[in-house]
Amino acid sequence: MAGGEQGQVEQLADWLRWAKRAVAFTGAGISTECGIPDFRSPGGIWTRMQPIDFRDYVTRADMRREAWRRKREMQPLFAAARPGAVHRLLADLIARGRLKAIVTQNIDNLHQTSGVPEERIIELHGNGSYAHCLSCGVRYEQAWIDARMAPDFSVPDCEACGGLIKTATISFGQPMPAEAMRRATLEAETSDLFVVLGSSLVVYPAAGLPITAKRHGARLVIVNREPTELDDLADLVINAELGAVAQSLAGHLAPPGVASGGRQDAADGC
Ligand code: NAD
Repeated sequence: MAGGEQGQVEQLADWLRWAKRAVAFTGAGISTECGIPDFRSPGGIWTRMQPIDFRDYVTRADMRREAWRRKREMQPLFAAARPGAVHRLLADLIARGRLKAIVTQNIDNLHQTSGVPEERIIELHGNGSYAHCLSCGVRYEQAWIDARMAPDFSVPDCEACGGLIKTATISFGQPMPAEAMRRATLEAETSDLFVVLGSSLVVYPAAGLPITAKRHGARLVIVNREPTELDDLADLVINAELGAVAQSLAGHLAPPGVASGGRQDAADGC
């Protein structure tokens, strides 16, 4: 990182040291270094395929088959991904009481895999590692789906009620999960430091949360490779690679006697 960015990271480390109610808000950018493409970067998922609207999923069997086909295509990427530098840093900050909660738009389950307790993670767009019935909510593990998926990618209906089964993510046109939004809004309203990591901040209502935090008095920090829509609102914007920022932050925030980089796992590929 350049000298100016090092100074910005030191500033963020200082704010994290003193914050009483710091909250992280994460997006697809924190997982690109783990091999999962984001939506909007060159080569991102949307440059290759249009999203499937929720209404189309519910009303059209061909769209459901296409959704499951895509799921099967993407599955090896998600299965192989391991937490990266940002996931590890945030897990460490949660464990040390320096971070209150992680609000995430990601569906890749990597915050959980990095060891963050479930109750500290607020998933705004659901979780792609399992599925559930859209009518009665019964959960279906991916292995159950895989064992029953037909060659044309159709999937059986719910065994309990006959409803449609869908990956437990929130599609465009699908209502936001009310409880997750309520908790995330509360965290934004009561935070004193709100740190956005790896989001283009164009997907609403999720992207409204940094605005809420700022309006309620939090310091707002945005860390992203490229500018975002909300940079003008932020107290600090760091345009840099997230892995490098996380490793530098980990060094600044490491307890005395712990080497820079903290909990780096040698087995991790990212
Ligand atoms: P986005 O694709 O709109 O934005 C990601 C941002 O991260 C971009 O601005 C990009 O420049 C930046 N970025 C990418 N890699 C980076 C790196 N290594 N260092 C610094 N910056 C980097 O993603 P979003 O804002 O999270 O919103 C879009 C939707 O994408 C969300 O709803 C989410 O559910 C979904 N999504 C999730 C995943 C995942 O779970 N990993 C992957 C793809 C899409």
